[in-house]
Amino acid sequence: MRRIARREALALAAGLGTATVVAACTRRGHASVTSSSGITPSASSGRPTPTPSASLPGPSPAGPDWSGLAGQLRGRLLRQTSSGYATTARLYNPRFDTTARPTAIVAAATASDVAVAVRFAADARVPFAVRSGGHSYPGWSTSPGLVIDVSSLAGVTVDTPRHTARIGAGARLVNVYAALAAKGVGIAGGSCPSVGIAGLTLGGGVGVLGRAWGLTCDAVRSVDIVTADGAARTVDPTHDADLFWALRGGGGGSFGAVTGFTVDVHPVPTVSTFYLQWPFTVAAEVVKAWQDWAYTVDSRLFSTCKLLADPRTDTRRALVAGTWIGPSSDLSARLAPLRAKLPKPSSTSIHAHTYADAMLLEAGCSGRSATSCLAGSLAPVKRQPFAATSSIVTGPLPSTAIAMAVTHATEAMNVAGIYEGGVSFDSLGGAVGAVGGGATAFGHRAAVATAQYTATWTDTGASPARFDAYVRGFRSALAPWLGSAAYVNYADASIANFGPAYWGSNYPRLQTVKRAYDPHNLFTFPQSVRLPGA
Ligand SMILES: Cc1cc2nc3c(=O)[nH]c(=O)nc-3n(C[C@H](O)[C@H](O)[C@H](O)COP(=O)(O)OP(=O)(O)OC[C@H]3O[C@@H](n4cnc5c(N)ncnc54)[C@H](O)[C@@H]3O)c2cc1C
Repeated sequence: MRRIARREALALAAGLGTATVVAACTRRGHASVTSSSGITPSASSGRPTPTPSASLPGPSPAGPDWSGLAGQLRGRLLRQTSSGYATTARLYNPRFDTTARPTAIVAAATASDVAVAVRFAADARVPFAVRSGGHSYPGWSTSPGLVIDVSSLAGVTVDTPRHTARIGAGARLVNVYAALAAKGVGIAGGSCPSVGIAGLTLGGGVGVLGRAWGLTCDAVRSVDIVTADGAARTVDPTHDADLFWALRGGGGGSFGAVTGFTVDVHPVPTVSTFYLQWPFTVAAEVVKAWQDWAYTVDSRLFSTCKLLADPRTDTRRALVAGTWIGPSSDLSARLAPLRAKLPKPSSTSIHAHTYADAMLLEAGCSGRSATSCLAGSLAPVKRQPFAATSSIVTGPLPSTAIAMAVTHATEAMNVAGIYEGGVSFDSLGGAVGAVGGGATAFGHRAAVATAQYTATWTDTGASPARFDAYVRGFRSALAPWLGSAAYVNYADASIANFGPAYWGSNYPRLQTVKRAYDPHNLFTFPQSVRLPGA
């Protein structure tokens, strides 16, 4: 594939909107995050702090039998003194580096290890969290007790006659895309190469092919899961149908420990990408023209509109980037209505790729192999802390709201120590909106876009407070128009009434499923689905 300017390539990404964090994704150590039972990050610092769980009375006087647990595993049990503990315990976001200190980590080698670990945690009353890729924004895939790490359950096998693939719950996105593409098929998913398939899919999964192919969870045909009773189940539309419903958008960590997915796959298409940038002086016009076009354009076209500020270089950017499923020759006509309403961009590029190359480009790994991309992400250098939160967009913003967005994007120039800050509007609709609002647990089928407010910084010792305040202030500023809804995969500890915010009218049904499959609230963390009445 042709090389594309790195800054442009990174801006193509959906998901965590700032170019810099997506870049960080490609060069950070392997994350581990996790969340868990019994930790509450404080809204100001985001530091996980232990809290008692009503359903977990505490460890037995003799203490947990860690040696006994280790003896039952095919994989490893890592204690704080074990080799590899520090790397494995680490969260994706370095803001949690000093606080993620589980007593033990089960590095599961098999689904049976996961079941053993869940039963152990239940019997020994040990708080725990399940971790796949470790990218939970608030660091909710760690625990002061036990982390059940499924990242070795990462196999990807394609069943060509059935047009399906089986994906282990710990597979990283870049490896999923590469393994599928090698068999001539693909799925829609997120941008960051090291995000885990489990966290992404359980919360929905938005991405650059979403308007064409739907959310990642829409492709799921069955889920393998260990529930709170220690049972390993395969759930699908005819087996544990309510649980299957909840696992498609209801968020990770509330209903059990997923060990794998079976998903429908698509033959890989040509994917064209585009990048258009304008001087920030026309930022408001860019947002207006973009929203008038992006929500109704052909559903094979995904786009993101970003307003980003970088005080280090004293630059602000207004840009529209995206993907088109098809050759680049057809893309220009699709872009014409947008371009007709705006001055000539200061930067323009359009390229065609294979599916595999497009997903690498989106990951910030243009021209590299998936192995190299992930190896870069495993090198523990230049990890970059970030703060983020989100809103849900259900229609065009009026000019006053757009002006507010421009003002707050500019405000990032005044946040001491910020590396890059701003907002990304990522289009939805198309195949995402074609699924009924109650068909899966995902709460925002009527949305036309997500809005994500982001800030990155480089000083890992800096307090996150002012960056959290920036992104949350941005969200509040647009709340008069966007309301309180948010995307669960961009979880934010400060969202108080999180159930309705993440899942809308699907929340009561999620609570009913919770009661049926986890009546003692074994799987719990600060924003886990609550039992009815709780
Ligand atoms: C740089 C970056 C880019 C991103 N881009 C996108 C994007 O393009 N699109 C998008 O939709 N989202 C995106 N996200 C958000 C991402 O989808 C969520 O953070 C997701 O939860 C991460 O999944 P994970 O497995 O890596 O995280 P983890 O931290 O491991 O898990 C997240 C949650 O799921 C639970 N969980 C993990 N594994 C399991 C399991 N096996 N069974 C049950 N529960 C489990 C955890 O306990 C935790 O509560 C991005 C995040 C980052 C940091």
